[in-house]
Amino acid sequence: MNRRQALKTMGATVVAVLLYPLLPKGGSIQSWADTLPPKKIDKKTARYQDHPEAGKMCMNCRHFIPPEGMSSMMGGMGQDMGGMNGPMGMGRMMEGACRVVAGPVSPMGYCRFYERNG
Ligand code: SF4
Repeated sequence: MNRRQALKTMGATVVAVLLYPLLPKGGSIQSWADTLPPKKIDKKTARYQDHPEAGKMCMNCRHFIPPEGMSSMMGGMGQDMGGMNGPMGMGRMMEGACRVVAGPVSPMGYCRFYERNG
């Protein structure tokens, strides 16, 4: 082994020793990578729009994550909030999140990854 190869080997060993504590117990680089959240798709790529498409909307999509309290709001929809066009109607609902698309999404939104819930 020449000097250059020895330095490369030493460098790789140092890096491995420094990263070892970051690995989960008994884990590998792959199992550590599996714990990272998947990267979401940006709205432009998903062709996201903030209005429904032929009755399809985030609210009834399996990827939708409703904002806190939305499910309890749904029961009183149209009664407590002044109806669909009232001051707290559907168009002004709080935004939720999506498991596929990055950023906040409207319950009334839609994108090409829509999948009907249930
Ligand atoms: S996949 Fe598209 S339609 Fe479904 S919740 Fe996410 S943004 Fe809305």
